[in-house]
Amino acid sequence: MTTKKIVSACLLGIKCAYDGTDRYKNSKVIRLLKKEELIPVCPEQLGGLPTPRLPLNIQQGTGKDVLGGGATVINKEGEDKTKEFIEGAKEVLSIAKLLGIKEYIAKSGSPSCGCGKIYDREGNLIEGDGVTVALLKKEGIKVINEREIE
Ligand code: SF4
Repeated sequence: MTTKKIVSACLLGIKCAYDGTDRYKNSKVIRLLKKEELIPVCPEQLGGLPTPRLPLNIQQGTGKDVLGGGATVINKEGEDKTKEFIEGAKEVLSIAKLLGIKEYIAKSGSPSCGCGKIYDREGNLIEGDGVTVALLKKEGIKVINEREIE
């Protein structure tokens, strides 16, 4: 029986990234597609954000801080999109629960999907998870980024 996993949709070729493109270039993801059942999800789209959209960053914190109410997600024009990010994270969690999925392969660096490292507003990589990854980890779902696929 193949293992089912949820995966950041942009890694699977869905053009859902903020700039309207995909991130389908990781050979490990492409190999995995041939042997496992991968379910694409994009938390930013599921939270109601359009594609393309302005680039977004977590302000003064990480996904965990956003979930705790101590940080916000702001786009390049200064608009607060925290609500959409939390909504999208909850939608991904619902999909995982509905399908009984226990693992998420997440796109590194993203304010939603970043796992272990995310970009701050100056474009530096800092320690921490994106909003969706923080919620999934809190709920006991295993999360790895695309570089950690074996
Ligand atoms: Fe990819 Fe996640 Fe960003 Fe959607 S939110 S484009 S799935 S990294």
